[in-house]
Amino acid sequence: MTKDIIPFNQPYMTGKELYYIAQAKFGNMLAGDGPYTKRCHGWIEERTGCAKALLTHSCTAALEMSALLLDMQPGDEVIMPSYTFVSTANAFVLRGGVPVFVDIREDTLNLDENLLEAAITPRTRAIVPVHYAGVSCEMDTIIDIARRYGLRVVEDAAQGVMARYKGRALGSMGDLGAYSFHETKNVISGEGGALLVNDPALALRAEIVREKGTDRSRFFRGEVDKYTWQEVGSSFLPGELVAAFLWAQFEEADSITRKRLELWQHYHEALAGLEADGLLRRPIIPPECEHNAHMYYVLLAPAIDRQSVIARLKAEGIFSVFHYVPLHDSPGGRRYGRVAGEMVHTDALSARLLRLPLWVQMQQQDVERIAGVIRAAVFTARN
Ligand SMILES: *Cc1c(COP(=O)(O)O)cnc(C)c1O
Repeated sequence: MTKDIIPFNQPYMTGKELYYIAQAKFGNMLAGDGPYTKRCHGWIEERTGCAKALLTHSCTAALEMSALLLDMQPGDEVIMPSYTFVSTANAFVLRGGVPVFVDIREDTLNLDENLLEAAITPRTRAIVPVHYAGVSCEMDTIIDIARRYGLRVVEDAAQGVMARYKGRALGSMGDLGAYSFHETKNVISGEGGALLVNDPALALRAEIVREKGTDRSRFFRGEVDKYTWQEVGSSFLPGELVAAFLWAQFEEADSITRKRLELWQHYHEALAGLEADGLLRRPIIPPECEHNAHMYYVLLAPAIDRQSVIARLKAEGIFSVFHYVPLHDSPGGRRYGRVAGEMVHTDALSARLLRLPLWVQMQQQDVERIAGVIRAAVFTARN
């Protein structure tokens, strides 16, 4: 008997993507900021309550826009977790900023808000909370600290579309927020992202920075009679074909999230016994967080060899992965950033984390099969 392969990720198409792309083409609107882009902006604004949403090429681009909008100067410090994707740091390093890495919380793997004040110096300009796995950081505390010290907050909500904290959408609570629609995220357009502008004072400049530093958006609205170079900017907007694809995904965002949450819950129940036996730890969702099932991961017990679990799963046709190499421990992180305090949880937890397949068209039986292989694997992989 050959066993079906279960890939780590399988991008989900709702079925209307190509139809909407054809519509965009027939409407002869191929550049950016056409009707589909406007619909997508409206959807994000309505769903999150942000003052202004702007589609970008990627979450990376939205983070780079944030660094421009905050006028980052060489030597300015930005506090962020080390346990994150490289773009969180790179966007600020591009402007000469210095990432200052703090440790993560043991429960959510998010930046530990209790370590922020000790990391603040006279050069600190901003805090960048990363909502890992679509589970919110402790935003009330983070925003309170930022207010007291006059710092900006940029939420890296790349994984946080459709997730909430105390009822508020991730990405809508800091001065700025960044979403990703990369094919590995929940709602996708291949490559893609959005900047959520929550401080209305930044909204006009955000349009300018995104349109090559010009006031072209105001020109199109008839607010100025010509458009000119206003400030430093670049081209951060996607074309209409990408927005048309994304619109098809937005229409199904609720059902996509529901389906992912069901699979997530199946994993959670199927792996409860192994947690009770002390062989792994399952994700912890604080009660104030409504997550979006972006990811199912387990933290293997320290005595279990992760590589052999991955190999055992692979031998059964099941593809699992781990991430991230903590930034403070990478060549770029050592060169461009610095740590504030100990990296105890970052170092320990990143070495134990294993991500399991989770995609919309997976079946409950797939989850059960994966859980069964993990059960067998962790017992034999115990040192
Ligand atoms: C995926 C991801 C990004 C980058 O998103 P892109 O859209 O690929 O640029 C940034 N930060 C985090 C935490 C991510 O997971």
